[in-house]
Amino acid sequence: MAMMHGSPQHPEIHGTVSFYRACGGSLVVAELYQLPSAHDIFAMHIHSGASCTETAQDAFADAGGHWELQPAEHPQHTGDLPALLSNDGYAWFAVYTNRFSPAQAVGKTVIIHADPDDYRTQPAGNAGARIACGTILA
Ligand SMILES: [Zn+2]
Repeated sequence: MAMMHGSPQHPEIHGTVSFYRACGGSLVVAELYQLPSAHDIFAMHIHSGASCTETAQDAFADAGGHWELQPAEHPQHTGDLPALLSNDGYAWFAVYTNRFSPAQAVGKTVIIHADPDDYRTQPAGNAGARIACGTILA
């Protein structure tokens, strides 16, 4: 499970992303609060880094790029996920994937971006700034 927290520009964002073993893969369940009101679709990915620490220039720089067990193009990265749909800042999300097991995801990071994923642009879907992050812990 990852406890999500907002970037310095979005400290109000919080929530959880949980991973359940299911049918040889993972059921991913996310619940987020106080997402920004600029729009209602947000990209969410699992990134390869283990930490949400940041630099002055780049929120959550240490989360790294999209997690991939094997080299792949976006959106075929292991950590690529469908979009998060916000309802006045609240989002509840669930998806099943066989790209990874919960055990494989431990130690990676979940990142929510400011914009939607276009599922086309390399290497990360042109999803904009990183607005929330959480490390996946066992
Ligand atoms: Zn990707």
